[in-house]
Amino acid sequence: MSFHLTILGTGSANPVVTRNATSHFLMVEQEGYLFDCGEATQTQLLRFKLKATRIKYIFITHLHGDHFFGLIGLLSTLNMHHRVDDLYIYGPKGLAEVLTLQMKYSDTRLNFKVHFEETRSEESYLLMENDYVKVTTIPLVHRVPCCGFLIEEKEKPHKILKELLPSHISIEQIKCLKDGQDVLDDNGEVLYSCDYYTIKGPAPDSYAFCTDTAYHPAILPIIKGVKLLYHETTFLHELVERAKETCHSTAYQAGQIAKEAGVKNLLIGHFSSRYKDLTPFIDEAKQVFHNTILGEDGMSIDFRDLV
Ligand SMILES: [Zn+2]
Repeated sequence: MSFHLTILGTGSANPVVTRNATSHFLMVEQEGYLFDCGEATQTQLLRFKLKATRIKYIFITHLHGDHFFGLIGLLSTLNMHHRVDDLYIYGPKGLAEVLTLQMKYSDTRLNFKVHFEETRSEESYLLMENDYVKVTTIPLVHRVPCCGFLIEEKEKPHKILKELLPSHISIEQIKCLKDGQDVLDDNGEVLYSCDYYTIKGPAPDSYAFCTDTAYHPAILPIIKGVKLLYHETTFLHELVERAKETCHSTAYQAGQIAKEAGVKNLLIGHFSSRYKDLTPFIDEAKQVFHNTILGEDGMSIDFRDLV
């Protein structure tokens, strides 16, 4: 198992034909996690041949339109396609109310159950977990309440070195070794899991989704060492004052956050419509943090390919 990410939109509030509004689609163990759902996200899913039916969890950072105006359309389409599986939506105060009104006046009745959980953006906390991942909130600084999300794969089981196992060991004891626990065998001898009877599994994947936000170093301890950090870069640093006024970040600042948090890779996006050529963004971020990826609509990232 590994994370697989597809970027559905790298634009910001003002529409641009080459850059859709924000949405990222992450697949983990055949289940889809959608981060933000800007206008026409469902069209982007079709364009990039992704199955909307796979989406089980939706996370909305904040209530600016370029981050959630596609949600009601997506829900209606899932309904038309006779979805029956439960859907889990996490978003700020007001989102459930907006969706309820939209459904009321469009006479939309969902055939499937939606579990809605309101997010809080004052502090970081564990939002949800399942067998494979856990998701923690990342409080951000924006003009409306906003929280990013950190999704972390749970520790992978150790690989058993069968040929080294003593013959008298039970299945339960093997299971403990796989989980990384040392075992006391029937002869009173300790069988050490790590580096003896097992090899540690590959490092778990992790992905932090940070948009929209002003430069905000308080997030550093939460995203420390993450495998891939997505950080918004609405502006180039020459407009740092504009970034400050509008609670956005520059490419240089995203690079600084990535460097100071010791992340492995940085992905940038949410580019202002004023920029046609995005080369200066990657150049600026790389001045500070070399392992930077310039986001593009339709770009897909297999976490196994990341350093
Ligand atoms: Zn915003």
